[in-house]
Amino acid sequence: MSTHPDIPPVYRGRFAPSPTGPLHFGSLLAAFGSWLLARHAGGEWWVRVEDLDPPREVAGAADRQLATLAAFGLVSDGPVVRQSERAERYRAALDELLTRGQAFLCHCSRSELAATGGIHHRCVAAETRTRPAIRLRVEPGTVVGFRDALQGHFEQDVYTEAGDVVLRRADGYWAYQLAVVVDDADQGFTDIVRGADLLDSTPRQIHLQHALGLPTPRYLHLPLIVDAGGQKLSKSMAALPIDAGDPLPPLRAAWTALGQSADQLPGIGGVTALLHAAARDFAPERLPRRASLPFAAPHNTPAADAV
Ligand code: GLU
Repeated sequence: MSTHPDIPPVYRGRFAPSPTGPLHFGSLLAAFGSWLLARHAGGEWWVRVEDLDPPREVAGAADRQLATLAAFGLVSDGPVVRQSERAERYRAALDELLTRGQAFLCHCSRSELAATGGIHHRCVAAETRTRPAIRLRVEPGTVVGFRDALQGHFEQDVYTEAGDVVLRRADGYWAYQLAVVVDDADQGFTDIVRGADLLDSTPRQIHLQHALGLPTPRYLHLPLIVDAGGQKLSKSMAALPIDAGDPLPPLRAAWTALGQSADQLPGIGGVTALLHAAARDFAPERLPRRASLPFAAPHNTPAADAV
Protein backbone atom coordinates (compact mmCIF):
# COMPACT_ATOMS: atom_id res chain seq x y z
CA MET A 1 0.00 0.00 0.00
CA SER A 2 2.72 2.50 0.87
CA THR A 3 4.55 4.29 -1.91
CA HIS A 4 8.03 5.74 -2.26
CA PRO A 5 8.04 9.26 -0.74
CA ASP A 6 9.27 10.86 -4.00
CA ILE A 7 6.67 9.25 -6.24
CA PRO A 8 3.20 10.79 -5.99
CA PRO A 9 0.55 8.21 -5.12
CA VAL A 10 -1.97 7.21 -7.77
CA TYR A 11 -4.77 7.59 -5.26
CA ARG A 12 -4.59 8.86 -1.71
CA GLY A 13 -7.84 9.77 -0.01
CA ARG A 14 -8.76 10.84 3.49
CA PHE A 15 -11.42 11.25 6.16
CA ALA A 16 -11.04 14.42 8.20
CA PRO A 17 -13.46 14.64 11.14
CA SER A 18 -13.65 17.59 13.50
CA PRO A 19 -13.56 16.37 17.13
CA THR A 20 -16.74 18.18 18.14
CA GLY A 21 -18.52 15.05 19.39
CA PRO A 22 -19.00 11.36 18.70
CA LEU A 23 -19.16 10.07 15.13
CA HIS A 24 -22.73 9.68 13.87
CA PHE A 25 -24.21 7.84 10.91
CA GLY A 26 -23.43 10.72 8.52
CA SER A 27 -19.78 10.62 9.63
CA LEU A 28 -19.69 6.86 9.05
CA LEU A 29 -21.04 7.34 5.54
CA ALA A 30 -18.21 9.77 4.71
CA ALA A 31 -15.60 7.55 6.38
CA PHE A 32 -16.80 4.28 4.79
CA GLY A 33 -17.52 5.93 1.41
CA SER A 34 -14.07 7.52 1.21
CA TRP A 35 -12.47 4.22 2.35
CA LEU A 36 -14.37 2.20 -0.29
CA LEU A 37 -13.42 4.59 -3.09
CA ALA A 38 -9.77 4.50 -2.01
CA ARG A 39 -9.70 0.70 -1.83
CA HIS A 40 -11.54 0.40 -5.14
CA ALA A 41 -8.78 2.50 -6.74
CA GLY A 42 -6.10 0.38 -5.05
CA GLY A 43 -5.14 3.49 -3.09
CA GLU A 44 -4.44 4.72 0.41
CA TRP A 45 -6.89 6.09 2.96
CA TRP A 46 -5.69 8.41 5.71
CA VAL A 47 -7.37 10.03 8.69
CA ARG A 48 -6.72 13.64 9.73
CA VAL A 49 -7.93 15.20 12.99
CA GLU A 50 -9.34 18.68 12.32
CA ASP A 51 -8.88 20.11 15.81
CA LEU A 52 -8.66 23.75 14.77
CA ASP A 53 -11.48 25.19 16.77
CA PRO A 54 -10.92 24.68 20.52
CA PRO A 55 -14.17 26.44 21.56
CA ARG A 56 -16.20 23.84 19.61
CA GLU A 57 -14.10 20.85 20.61
CA VAL A 58 -15.12 18.19 23.10
CA ALA A 59 -12.29 16.94 25.31
CA GLY A 60 -11.25 13.41 24.35
CA ALA A 61 -13.48 13.35 21.25
CA ALA A 62 -10.58 12.98 18.78
CA ASP A 63 -9.28 9.84 20.50
CA ARG A 64 -12.78 8.44 20.81
CA GLN A 65 -13.43 9.07 17.10
CA LEU A 66 -10.21 7.23 16.20
CA ALA A 67 -11.15 4.35 18.51
CA THR A 68 -14.63 4.19 16.94
CA LEU A 69 -13.14 4.13 13.43
CA ALA A 70 -10.79 1.33 14.51
CA ALA A 71 -13.76 -0.66 15.85
CA PHE A 72 -15.27 -0.30 12.37
CA GLY A 73 -12.02 -1.58 10.86
CA LEU A 74 -11.20 1.83 9.39
CA VAL A 75 -7.57 2.53 10.22
CA SER A 76 -5.39 5.23 8.64
CA ASP A 77 -2.76 4.00 6.18
CA GLY A 78 -0.61 7.05 6.96
CA PRO A 79 0.28 9.11 10.02
CA VAL A 80 -2.74 10.70 11.72
CA VAL A 81 -2.03 14.42 11.42
CA ARG A 82 -3.60 16.81 13.94
CA GLN A 83 -4.25 20.30 12.66
CA SER A 84 -3.51 21.74 16.11
CA GLU A 85 0.15 20.83 15.46
CA ARG A 86 0.37 22.50 12.05
CA ALA A 87 0.38 26.24 12.91
CA GLU A 88 3.83 26.75 11.36
CA ARG A 89 2.65 25.57 7.96
CA TYR A 90 -0.50 27.72 8.08
CA ARG A 91 1.61 30.73 9.13
CA ALA A 92 3.99 30.18 6.17
CA ALA A 93 1.09 30.04 3.69
CA LEU A 94 -0.49 33.13 5.23
CA ASP A 95 2.80 35.06 5.10
CA GLU A 96 3.15 34.17 1.44
CA LEU A 97 -0.28 35.62 0.68
CA LEU A 98 0.31 38.71 2.85
CA THR A 99 3.66 39.39 1.16
CA ARG A 100 2.05 39.23 -2.26
CA GLY A 101 -0.82 41.48 -1.19
CA GLN A 102 -3.35 38.69 -1.73
CA ALA A 103 -4.31 38.68 1.96
CA PHE A 104 -5.03 41.63 4.21
CA LEU A 105 -5.81 42.53 7.82
CA CYS A 106 -9.50 43.14 8.47
CA HIS A 107 -10.91 45.00 11.47
CA CYS A 108 -14.58 44.59 10.55
CA SER A 109 -16.83 43.15 13.24
CA ARG A 110 -19.57 40.58 12.73
CA SER A 111 -22.26 43.20 13.30
CA GLU A 112 -20.67 45.56 10.79
CA LEU A 113 -20.87 42.82 8.17
CA ALA A 114 -24.45 41.85 9.07
CA ALA A 115 -25.81 44.26 6.45
CA THR A 116 -24.07 42.24 3.70
CA GLY A 117 -25.06 38.86 5.18
CA GLY A 118 -21.61 38.43 6.71
CA ILE A 119 -19.99 38.61 3.28
CA HIS A 120 -16.94 40.87 3.11
CA HIS A 121 -16.24 42.92 -0.01
CA ARG A 122 -14.47 45.91 1.48
CA CYS A 123 -13.55 47.00 4.98
CA VAL A 124 -16.24 49.00 6.76
CA ALA A 125 -14.72 48.92 10.27
CA ALA A 126 -15.41 51.96 12.39
CA GLU A 127 -12.49 51.22 14.70
CA THR A 128 -9.25 49.30 14.81
CA ARG A 129 -9.28 46.00 16.68
CA THR A 130 -6.32 44.70 18.63
CA ARG A 131 -6.60 41.34 16.88
CA PRO A 132 -7.75 41.78 13.31
CA ALA A 133 -8.83 38.86 11.16
CA ILE A 134 -6.84 38.07 8.02
CA ARG A 135 -8.73 37.58 4.76
CA LEU A 136 -7.98 36.46 1.23
CA ARG A 137 -8.78 39.16 -1.32
CA VAL A 138 -11.40 37.86 -3.76
CA GLU A 139 -11.86 40.02 -6.84
CA PRO A 140 -15.26 40.64 -8.48
CA GLY A 141 -15.92 38.08 -11.21
CA THR A 142 -14.10 35.24 -9.43
CA VAL A 143 -16.18 32.34 -10.73
CA VAL A 144 -14.77 28.89 -9.95
CA GLY A 145 -16.17 25.67 -11.39
CA PHE A 146 -15.10 22.06 -11.07
CA ARG A 147 -16.32 18.61 -12.04
CA ASP A 148 -17.48 16.65 -9.04
CA ALA A 149 -17.24 12.91 -9.70
CA LEU A 150 -20.74 12.38 -8.31
CA GLN A 151 -22.58 15.70 -8.34
CA GLY A 152 -21.40 16.74 -11.81
CA HIS A 153 -20.35 20.27 -12.77
CA PHE A 154 -20.53 22.72 -9.90
CA GLU A 155 -19.84 26.40 -10.25
CA GLN A 156 -19.85 29.27 -7.83
CA ASP A 157 -19.31 33.01 -7.99
CA VAL A 158 -16.91 33.12 -5.06
CA TYR A 159 -16.97 36.92 -4.94
CA THR A 160 -20.75 37.12 -4.55
CA GLU A 161 -21.34 33.98 -2.49
CA ALA A 162 -18.31 34.01 -0.20
CA GLY A 163 -16.55 37.36 -0.56
CA ASP A 164 -13.11 37.84 0.99
CA VAL A 165 -12.46 34.49 2.66
CA VAL A 166 -11.28 34.44 6.30
CA LEU A 167 -7.87 32.77 6.65
CA ARG A 168 -7.22 33.57 10.29
CA ARG A 169 -10.09 34.45 12.55
CA ALA A 170 -10.27 37.54 14.76
CA ASP A 171 -10.10 35.23 17.80
CA GLY A 172 -6.68 34.11 16.56
CA TYR A 173 -7.67 30.62 15.39
CA TRP A 174 -6.86 29.35 11.91
CA ALA A 175 -9.77 29.18 9.52
CA TYR A 176 -10.86 25.79 8.17
CA GLN A 177 -10.47 26.90 4.51
CA LEU A 178 -6.77 27.72 4.88
CA ALA A 179 -5.90 24.68 6.98
CA VAL A 180 -7.69 22.19 4.72
CA VAL A 181 -6.05 23.54 1.57
CA VAL A 182 -2.54 23.55 3.08
CA ASP A 183 -2.95 20.09 4.61
CA ASP A 184 -4.56 18.42 1.60
CA ALA A 185 -1.59 19.56 -0.51
CA ASP A 186 1.13 18.79 2.06
CA GLN A 187 -0.29 15.32 2.65
CA GLY A 188 -0.45 14.59 -1.06
CA PHE A 189 -4.15 13.75 -1.27
CA THR A 190 -5.22 13.09 -4.83
CA ASP A 191 -8.91 12.60 -4.02
CA ILE A 192 -11.18 14.38 -1.59
CA VAL A 193 -14.34 12.45 -0.74
CA ARG A 194 -16.63 14.12 1.80
CA GLY A 195 -20.22 15.12 2.49
CA ALA A 196 -22.14 17.40 0.14
CA ASP A 197 -22.47 19.96 2.94
CA LEU A 198 -18.94 20.99 1.92
CA LEU A 199 -19.76 21.27 -1.78
CA ASP A 200 -19.97 25.05 -1.63
CA SER A 201 -16.64 25.30 0.22
CA THR A 202 -14.84 23.60 -2.66
CA PRO A 203 -14.75 26.57 -5.11
CA ARG A 204 -13.18 28.80 -2.45
CA GLN A 205 -10.69 26.04 -1.63
CA ILE A 206 -9.78 25.73 -5.32
CA HIS A 207 -9.40 29.50 -5.50
CA LEU A 208 -7.06 29.39 -2.49
CA GLN A 209 -5.09 26.52 -4.08
CA HIS A 210 -4.56 28.73 -7.14
CA ALA A 211 -3.46 31.65 -4.95
CA LEU A 212 -0.90 29.41 -3.20
CA GLY A 213 0.20 27.62 -6.38
CA LEU A 214 -1.03 24.25 -5.07
CA PRO A 215 -2.47 21.38 -7.12
CA THR A 216 -6.22 20.77 -7.18
CA PRO A 217 -7.22 17.21 -6.20
CA ARG A 218 -10.24 15.39 -7.63
CA TYR A 219 -13.45 15.87 -5.64
CA LEU A 220 -16.44 13.66 -4.91
CA HIS A 221 -19.16 14.88 -2.58
CA LEU A 222 -21.33 12.12 -1.10
CA PRO A 223 -25.00 12.78 -0.38
CA LEU A 224 -25.54 14.33 2.98
CA ILE A 225 -27.71 12.35 5.37
CA VAL A 226 -30.59 14.53 6.48
CA ASP A 227 -33.48 13.90 8.85
CA ALA A 228 -37.13 13.77 7.83
CA GLY A 229 -37.32 17.57 8.06
CA GLY A 230 -34.34 17.97 5.69
CA GLN A 231 -31.97 19.05 8.47
CA LYS A 232 -28.32 17.98 8.44
CA LEU A 233 -28.03 14.99 10.76
CA SER A 234 -25.45 16.52 13.07
CA LYS A 235 -27.90 19.32 13.84
CA SER A 236 -30.86 17.12 14.61
CA MET A 237 -32.07 14.69 17.23
CA ALA A 238 -31.31 11.84 14.84
CA ALA A 239 -27.59 12.40 15.24
CA LEU A 240 -27.20 9.41 17.50
CA PRO A 241 -23.62 8.22 17.99
CA ILE A 242 -22.79 5.05 16.07
CA ASP A 243 -22.20 2.12 18.40
CA ALA A 244 -18.56 1.02 18.31
CA GLY A 245 -19.60 -2.11 20.22
CA ASP A 246 -21.85 -3.28 17.39
CA PRO A 247 -20.30 -2.12 14.10
CA LEU A 248 -21.92 -4.54 11.63
CA PRO A 249 -25.47 -3.08 11.50
CA PRO A 250 -24.31 0.52 10.86
CA LEU A 251 -21.76 -0.69 8.28
CA ARG A 252 -24.51 -2.60 6.42
CA ALA A 253 -26.84 0.41 6.63
CA ALA A 254 -24.06 2.67 5.29
CA TRP A 255 -23.41 0.16 2.48
CA THR A 256 -27.02 0.37 1.27
CA ALA A 257 -27.16 4.16 1.81
CA LEU A 258 -24.17 4.31 -0.56
CA GLY A 259 -26.41 2.68 -3.17
CA GLN A 260 -24.79 -0.74 -2.94
CA SER A 261 -26.76 -3.93 -3.34
CA ALA A 262 -28.51 -5.18 -0.21
CA ASP A 263 -27.95 -8.75 -1.46
CA GLN A 264 -24.22 -8.43 -1.03
CA LEU A 265 -22.36 -8.91 2.25
CA PRO A 266 -24.78 -11.67 3.29
CA GLY A 267 -24.15 -13.57 6.49
CA ILE A 268 -20.79 -12.02 7.18
CA GLY A 269 -20.10 -12.11 10.89
CA GLY A 270 -16.96 -10.03 11.39
CA VAL A 271 -15.79 -6.52 10.55
CA THR A 272 -12.64 -7.66 8.72
CA ALA A 273 -14.55 -10.10 6.52
CA LEU A 274 -17.28 -7.54 5.85
CA LEU A 275 -14.79 -4.85 4.82
CA HIS A 276 -12.94 -7.31 2.62
CA ALA A 277 -16.17 -8.28 0.81
CA ALA A 278 -17.26 -4.63 0.63
CA ALA A 279 -13.97 -3.55 -0.98
CA ARG A 280 -14.30 -6.41 -3.48
CA ASP A 281 -17.95 -5.78 -4.43
CA PHE A 282 -18.13 -1.97 -4.23
CA ALA A 283 -19.55 -0.45 -7.42
CA PRO A 284 -18.91 3.34 -7.49
CA GLU A 285 -21.36 3.79 -10.39
CA ARG A 286 -24.15 2.86 -7.94
CA LEU A 287 -23.44 5.79 -5.60
CA PRO A 288 -26.56 7.98 -5.40
CA ARG A 289 -26.03 11.07 -7.55
CA ARG A 290 -27.81 13.41 -5.21
CA ALA A 291 -26.85 15.99 -2.64
CA SER A 292 -28.97 14.68 0.22
CA LEU A 293 -30.46 11.43 1.44
CA PRO A 294 -33.15 11.14 4.14
CA PHE A 295 -31.91 9.28 7.22
CA ALA A 296 -34.96 7.00 7.16
CA ALA A 297 -34.03 5.58 3.76
CA PRO A 298 -31.19 3.25 4.79
CA HIS A 299 -33.33 1.82 7.56
CA ASN A 300 -36.22 1.07 5.25
CA THR A 301 -34.21 -1.19 3.00
CA PRO A 302 -34.50 -4.97 3.27
CA ALA A 303 -30.81 -5.17 4.20
CA ALA A 304 -31.24 -2.80 7.11
CA ASP A 305 -34.31 -4.66 8.30
CA ALA A 306 -32.38 -7.90 8.20
CA VAL A 307 -29.60 -6.78 10.53
N1 GLU B 1 -13.62 18.58 9.31
C1 GLU B 1 -14.70 18.71 8.40
C2 GLU B 1 -15.95 18.14 9.06
O1 GLU B 1 -15.86 17.36 10.00
C3 GLU B 1 -14.48 17.98 7.10
C4 GLU B 1 -13.47 18.65 6.27
C5 GLU B 1 -13.22 18.04 4.92
O2 GLU B 1 -13.49 16.85 4.71
O3 GLU B 1 -12.70 18.77 4.09
O4 GLU B 1 -17.04 18.47 8.62
